[in-house]
Amino acid sequence: MRTLLFILTATLLPAAEPDWPKLQDYALDLLQRYIRIESINPPADTRAAAAFFETELNKHGFAPRLFPAGPNGQTNLLVRMEGRDRSKKPLLLLNHFDVVPVDAKAWSMEPFGGLLKDGFIWGRGALDMKGIGIQHLTALIALKQAGIVPSRDIVMLTTSDEETNGVYGIQWMIDRHFDQIDAEFVLDEGGFGTRDILAPGKLVFGIAVGEKQVAWVRLRAKGTAAHGSQPIPDNANDILLRAIQQALAVPGGAKPHPVVDEMRRNIGVALADNKYTNAIQKNTISLTTLRAGVGDPPKVNVIPSNSEATLDCRLLPGVNHEEFLSEMRARINNPKVTVELISTPDDPGASNSETLLFAAIAKAITGFHPGATITPMLVPHGTDSVKLRKKGIIAYGLTPMILDAATAGTMHSDQERIPIDEFKKGIRIFYEVLKSNF
Ligand SMILES: [Zn+2]
Repeated sequence: MRTLLFILTATLLPAAEPDWPKLQDYALDLLQRYIRIESINPPADTRAAAAFFETELNKHGFAPRLFPAGPNGQTNLLVRMEGRDRSKKPLLLLNHFDVVPVDAKAWSMEPFGGLLKDGFIWGRGALDMKGIGIQHLTALIALKQAGIVPSRDIVMLTTSDEETNGVYGIQWMIDRHFDQIDAEFVLDEGGFGTRDILAPGKLVFGIAVGEKQVAWVRLRAKGTAAHGSQPIPDNANDILLRAIQQALAVPGGAKPHPVVDEMRRNIGVALADNKYTNAIQKNTISLTTLRAGVGDPPKVNVIPSNSEATLDCRLLPGVNHEEFLSEMRARINNPKVTVELISTPDDPGASNSETLLFAAIAKAITGFHPGATITPMLVPHGTDSVKLRKKGIIAYGLTPMILDAATAGTMHSDQERIPIDEFKKGIRIFYEVLKSNF
C-alpha cells in the first residue's frame, strides 16, 4: 500500500521545475565553447562541432547519431526524445553547425573567442545560429532532467552546411534519411522579437511562416572587342550598363502578401520604414556582382567583347518567376543581352499558423514578455525551412529573443552577438513550447 501510494503521488505530482540558474549558466558556458569551434563554411568541416554536441547529449542520457555526409568532414547530428503519443509525427528542431567566414580585421575582438562583454555574448555564429542550437539542446536536457515526456517525439537535427544551400546537410538528410526527420512541424531560424525593426516602439515577436523566393539572375552582354583609344557603340560594358539600369527598374510592387497583411493587422500600427520591412513587402533586386575586362588585372585600354553582372532577386511567395523574368527581358529589350536564371526559386507557400503549436509558442513568449504582439511573418532571406515546406511539413522560424536592429544587423557581419539575458530567457521559451500539448 505504501509503495502504491508512493507510486501514485510520484506520477501525480507535477514534475519539478529545472534548476534554471544552473542550467542557464551551463548553457552560456556551452555556447562560449561552441563558438570557439571554428566550424567555418567553406569547408564546413563540422566533425569537432558534432563531437561536442554528441558528448553533451551522451552525458545527459541521450543517444545522438552522427551522419558523416560530405568530403570535407560535413557531419550532421540527430537526436530523438520519445514522446507520449508515438502515432503522431514528431516536432523537428532544426539548427546548423556551420558559420560563415569572418573578416577578422573588422572585429573589435577575437571573432571565435566566445567573449562575454557588455551584457552580450560575442562571436561568429552567436546569432546564426549557434545560440539557438544551444537553446534547443538545453531545452531538451531540461525536459529530461524534469522527467517530462513530451506530447510527441522531438527530434533535433543539427546540419553541417546550411550556409551553402544544405547540400550535405538538410538536403542530404531529406534524400537519404527522410524517415528520421519526417515531422509534422519544424522549428527553424527566422523570425525574432524586436522593438524597432518591425514597428517603432512596439514589442513584436514575428514567427516566420514563409520566406521569399530566391531568383538569382545573370545578365550577359556581348559586343565587339576593340582598342580603348577609339570608342565604339558596340561596347559590351556600355550595353550591360544600360541593361542593368532597365533591369533594376522592374517594379517591385507585387500585390501585398496575405501574411504581411496579417502582420499589419496584428501589429496595428504602420510598419517601420527600413530595409527589412521594405524587403518583406515587395519583390527586390540587388546588383551584387560585375565582371568585365580582358586580362588579370584587366587592361584599361581594351574594350572587352563580353561583360556580365548578377542580380540577387527575391520574389514574394506566389509571384511567378517566369513572368518576372519576362518583364525584365522585355524592359532590357536587347538581343545582345542574355538574361539567365541561375538559381531554382522554390515557392511552397506559407505554413499554416492556426495550429496548437503556434498557439503554444505565442503563450510561451507572452509568459516571459507580457504585452508582446505575436504575429506570423515573412522573412526576406532563405532558410532550410523551404525544403521542408516542400515536403509538406509546417515550418516556423522561431528566434525567441528580443533583438534590436543593430544586433540583428551583425548576422553575417562583424561584431556578431546576442544579449545574454535574451539567450537565457529563450531557453525557457523553447522549454515551455516543448513541454506543451501540441
Ligand atoms: Zn543560419
